[in-house]
Amino acid sequence: MGAGRVTVDFSLIPFGFNPVDETFVDVRDVPRGAKCGCVCPSCKTPLIARQGEEKEWHFAHASRTVYQRTQKECEYSFYLSVRMMARQMIGNKLNIRLPEYTDVVSKVAPLSGDTLREPFRITASKEICLSDVEVEAIFEGVPVDIVGYINDFRFVVYFTHPGRCVPQELKSPGDHHSGVIAVALDELRGTIFRKAKEKNQSYLSVLTEHLSNDLSSKQWVYHPRFQSCRQKALEKLDVKVASSEAKNTRTRYFESPVSRRFEVDITPPNITGPLVSFECLICDSRWQGSGARG
Ligand SMILES: [Zn+2]
Repeated sequence: MGAGRVTVDFSLIPFGFNPVDETFVDVRDVPRGAKCGCVCPSCKTPLIARQGEEKEWHFAHASRTVYQRTQKECEYSFYLSVRMMARQMIGNKLNIRLPEYTDVVSKVAPLSGDTLREPFRITASKEICLSDVEVEAIFEGVPVDIVGYINDFRFVVYFTHPGRCVPQELKSPGDHHSGVIAVALDELRGTIFRKAKEKNQSYLSVLTEHLSNDLSSKQWVYHPRFQSCRQKALEKLDVKVASSEAKNTRTRYFESPVSRRFEVDITPPNITGPLVSFECLICDSRWQGSGARG
């Protein structure tokens, strides 16, 4: 990635901040050029609305000199504008499609050295409807983007992008009854302008669509059922390991060259198959058992 391209990317944002009424606005909904009356959400210097024929419409810093000075500060202004617009557009309710949540536990069987795995599913993919939605709320002492409710369960949405990852507090919250999902905005940087042009949609529509329906950008951070599902999977895995070990022991018992059958006796009434005597070829010890192969 060349330095020139980076500069261009950083200066283009789909939503400008109007300081008069303190709202974010789509570049489609403002007068052209400096008359847009918007500022950069990061550095607060004026933006111009570029609504040309050829390029996708966007806001850019009005003064290149100023932008060169504030470049570091404005590195994430694209994401800031998108994140703030997302917060702004969300009303009291939010429909959001969530991805499936799966994980796997694994263990090495001591005898065989085989790694055994037990995949488990915490939830299927589904669409939920959050009510009593609050934006810019505090959860576990951390500012989060959205908090809403499904019946009595609290649900948290946290937007991530380069320079903004999920805080540790959300990964193991003290409140075990809440769900936390991260929505990555990374992909939008590369697609929002193009998609809007291709589909003749506003940037707001592309953002709404991304937030509500895109699954690949969403990742479960915490699910209230995770621990109990993991525990069940671990129990299943232990059974798997035990059965694999027993099979392994039996296989050695019957097939190892260090023991051999040497005498077939009469069949006692309560044992399936003939009673067989065994002799260890290493220590010479002898024992009896069922000759039936399991
Ligand atoms: Zn700026």
